[in-house]
Amino acid sequence: MTRLYEKIKEYILRDMEKEGESNDLAVLLRVLSIIGILHYFVMVFPVASIGNIMMTLFLTFSIGILLGVLICTYENRTMYGLWLYNAISLLFSVLMSLFIGWGYFFAPIVFVTVLLVFFSIKLSIRKKILYTVFCAVLVLLLAIGYNFMPLQTTPGLLIRIVLLAINISLSFFSLTAIAYAFCYKYTKSEEKIIQYNKRLEQLVNTDTLTTLWNRRAMNEHLATLVNNYNKYQTDFSLAILDIDFFKKVNDEYGHGMGDFVLKSLSYLLKTFMDGKGHVARWGGEEFLLTFEDMDYDQAIGFMEELRVRIEDQDFTFKDVNLHLTITAGIEEYHSGIDLDQTLTKADEKLYTGKTSGRNQVVSSYYSM
Ligand code: GH3
Ligand code: MG
Ligand code: MG
Repeated sequence: MTRLYEKIKEYILRDMEKEGESNDLAVLLRVLSIIGILHYFVMVFPVASIGNIMMTLFLTFSIGILLGVLICTYENRTMYGLWLYNAISLLFSVLMSLFIGWGYFFAPIVFVTVLLVFFSIKLSIRKKILYTVFCAVLVLLLAIGYNFMPLQTTPGLLIRIVLLAINISLSFFSLTAIAYAFCYKYTKSEEKIIQYNKRLEQLVNTDTLTTLWNRRAMNEHLATLVNNYNKYQTDFSLAILDIDFFKKVNDEYGHGMGDFVLKSLSYLLKTFMDGKGHVARWGGEEFLLTFEDMDYDQAIGFMEELRVRIEDQDFTFKDVNLHLTITAGIEEYHSGIDLDQTLTKADEKLYTGKTSGRNQVVSSYYSM
């Protein structure tokens, strides 16, 4: 039973090849054609029972047309399918209202065709509105015209109830199918936009080689830290870290080794900074670290611990085993100086570290 259901579902949802019309319209037309075939099929019995041969033949003919609509949606002829569906639905509404009676709810199928036209992405809005006006005039003429048609038979109460029940329930099925399709399409595009935005944000903020935050993302984060400092006095410090003699790594072992070192070191930095703050790739082989919610001495302590950890780390790539050192300048953010000045000070300390032996964390001008 579930296999049969899955097979039917797969058949209904099957994609069209490129046709310029949305696949959703084809799927919707398939669902509506199946509801329509069922509608006309069950309608045959009460209509035949009141002896209306012409309308019985028409209903049988309509079932054939709806099968044609189904075929169109599988043959990349969705627009033909749409117009065929609408034409037969309008004809059904007109003929049934005139020859069986106005009061049996034959007209609502016209609304279904209007909504269906609005579902198309190929038709211009002008054509859609024109079609709506045409349908409005048609229903109006029908509502007036049926008064001049002598009813050929007046069905008994039971048949009248059956006709009403069939028309009302199947018109509502069709309307529900369209409402569901609209809702589904809307939700799907909303979800897609959210997904694209997330992906875009990730691409814009991430350094491709190391997958760390890039300078842009870190700048945004720094602005938030300053804001929090101003509002809640939450301390933070910044450190700029630079690999010592990195050019040599590239020159001696190739760019591949250089890239590997950058990636491995980034992983180490990210893991180390977890719970302490954040890290970003600030430039080529320079990284910016933030030590958050802690005082300056604590930040210096962590930075020193990190320096030692990097010094002890093996960087092994294609049988080459490397040891590296880093130099860093660290500075605490104060309300007296702005962010740019804090960064400049950290950079100046890094420079001092580079010119006075490397492999060190410079935290005060006093230590220079
Ligand atoms: P110092 O100790 O003074 O910092 O010396 P250094 O050799 O590390 O500094 P320098 O600025 O002379 O060289 C940095 C090198 O980093 C040069 C550049 O080729 C390399 N580099 C920058 N970005 C990348 C990258 O994405 N991949 C690789 N493999 N190398 C990079
Ligand atoms: Mg360097
Ligand atoms: Mg550098």
